[in-house]
Amino acid sequence: MFFVDDQTLMKIVALFGEEAVKLVRVLKVVDELTDNEIADKTQMSIYMVRKALYKLYDHSLVVLRRSRDKEKGWFVYHWRLQPDQFAGFITSMKRRVLERLKTRLRYEMNHEFYTCQTPGCKRYTFEDAVEFLFKCPICHKPMTHVNYNCFIKVLIRKIEQIERELSE
Ligand SMILES: [Zn+2]
Repeated sequence: MFFVDDQTLMKIVALFGEEAVKLVRVLKVVDELTDNEIADKTQMSIYMVRKALYKLYDHSLVVLRRSRDKEKGWFVYHWRLQPDQFAGFITSMKRRVLERLKTRLRYEMNHEFYTCQTPGCKRYTFEDAVEFLFKCPICHKPMTHVNYNCFIKVLIRKIEQIERELSE
């Protein structure tokens, strides 16, 4: 048995879907369960259970043990959570997100943006805006410089938060 906090569960939802969270919830309080037992406990179809299990299995978040049903002769799969893998997995996800945010921040800070302010139209970098002679190629309205300082502040705050979490 091990403790998975809600924050971790939410990340699992985002990555693998609600079904995976249902699996984690039933698996975390037992040693191991078969596909059928999980289906019973979660009220999910065996198909959905297996689909979700294999997603987690791909990331080594669950392991399986195979045994043979003595009467029927077929294989039975027993699933178990890999608690120590969860921490490592979440950490590597955070590192990946951090890298993406930093790349985005660099891009935002190194460019000036111009837009026509029309909903649905795009924003352009200074270089592109020059090409278009500061006229929006879609609606043909003049484009003006826009300030993304608020967005940059949000990015920085998010980066700092993840860095703090990673250093804990
Ligand atoms: Zn436009």
